[in-house]
Amino acid sequence: MQLTLPLPELAQLSFGAAPSPSHRVYCNRSLRLDQIEWVGFDMDYTLAIYDQREMDRLSIEATLAKLTQRGYPESLQTASYRTDFPIRGLLVDRKLGNVLKMDRYKYVKRAYHGLTELTKEERRHTYHTRRLRADSARYHWVDTLYALSEVAVYAAAIDHLERLGVEVDPDRLFGDVRECIDLSHQDGSILDHILADLPRYVQRDPLLARTLHQLRSAGKKLFLLTNSHGPYSDRMMSFLLGEGLPQYRGWRGYFDLVVCASRKPRFFTGDAEFEELLPDGTRRALPNGIPRVERGRMYLGGNIESLQTALGTTPDRVLYVGDHIYGDVLRAKKESAWRTMMVVQEMSDELVAHGEVEHSLARLDSLEDLRLRLLEELRDHQVVLKALERKRAAKKELTPTEDAERVRHRHAVDRLKQRVRLAEREHDELERGVDRRFHRYWGSLFKAGGEVSSFGAQVETYACLYTSRVSNLLRYSPMHFFTSPRDRMPHELP
Ligand SMILES: [Mg+2]
Repeated sequence: MQLTLPLPELAQLSFGAAPSPSHRVYCNRSLRLDQIEWVGFDMDYTLAIYDQREMDRLSIEATLAKLTQRGYPESLQTASYRTDFPIRGLLVDRKLGNVLKMDRYKYVKRAYHGLTELTKEERRHTYHTRRLRADSARYHWVDTLYALSEVAVYAAAIDHLERLGVEVDPDRLFGDVRECIDLSHQDGSILDHILADLPRYVQRDPLLARTLHQLRSAGKKLFLLTNSHGPYSDRMMSFLLGEGLPQYRGWRGYFDLVVCASRKPRFFTGDAEFEELLPDGTRRALPNGIPRVERGRMYLGGNIESLQTALGTTPDRVLYVGDHIYGDVLRAKKESAWRTMMVVQEMSDELVAHGEVEHSLARLDSLEDLRLRLLEELRDHQVVLKALERKRAAKKELTPTEDAERVRHRHAVDRLKQRVRLAEREHDELERGVDRRFHRYWGSLFKAGGEVSSFGAQVETYACLYTSRVSNLLRYSPMHFFTSPRDRMPHELP
């Protein structure tokens, strides 16, 4: 039985005004919240927002220590690494040791070798002359916030080892970096540190408890579906919700079903059985394989089909909230009819930057228009000029009127070429400045030049909704109708 709780705050909250950009929930595909019966949550980087710099530092230090144990030079541990270098959505070229950012058409817009940017020519020569097979073993897609530290270590190690004159096999180095990070996660080098100092690594959201409570009060049921292990999840969730609302005795009171160690993305495609983790730490197989919807229990493993049976509703009435484009959002979308919401914690910074460069973006648009107009004018003059010059070459002489015309067009061509150059220079400088405001190395997370970035395109394709924090839902009525901007193809535009 779903317990409908009184929610006095609900009456006081006004859902009329649109929240500020950083508190907004953005919509790619329309979704009626009143039609949603179950809301499921991933935990890490979704309910638990980690401090990225602190996490990266922890992970990088653990990884560098393990790399030297594997025979890499001791000095690697003192190599300077930049936690602000990587962003999500980058592609690692394991063959050449480069890191790339692409637009939605897999066109490489920016590339670095170590921390040195490739020139336009180098980029063109290496990546633009043939099709880039981003899904081949040569390339590795950086799609989680966990993976950012891999890129920071990789770029620093390439720089450091090449400077030492050490022969580097970029593919092997990347494999070693990945293994060392995985090992650090498995052997507790990272998780133990986090648990020992949660406030340092995790930003507790004071509105999270109210957000979950608001959904419950509207009659929705909630589940947790995380890859983290039971004891870790228990500690983390207690930290996030333990001192939440007085109506709840502990974090488990907010959830009707809890699944840990779920092994997503395999959870969506495999047929692993659910087990129940009992309070004494032992595991119990389930008689019919289906977990029970009952607060206080914790299940492990499992698969989407059995979970769907337990939820007892149709998949289109389930909203799953996660941060991992592949493991949470893309797989949920491809293997089920679940609706999806993606938490993109970088959005807060992205939106601030966007607000600051709005004027520059408008200026960029007008410079692009200006350039096209000038080029058209230029072509008109060039056509006439060429005809007059051909005539002069053939007849050796022009009439005085024709010659005056020729000179006039010649001057116009020179003047227009100069104006095009100036417009292009202003455009490029302004674009650089805009990019730098978003991110020193890579520019905006969602855009690549004038195009949507490959990361942005994935968010657009697979996430029905996206937002920077789960608690932004608090600013919307649990009955809200999220509507997407009307989708129009180029031939439908005015
Ligand atoms: Mg996660």
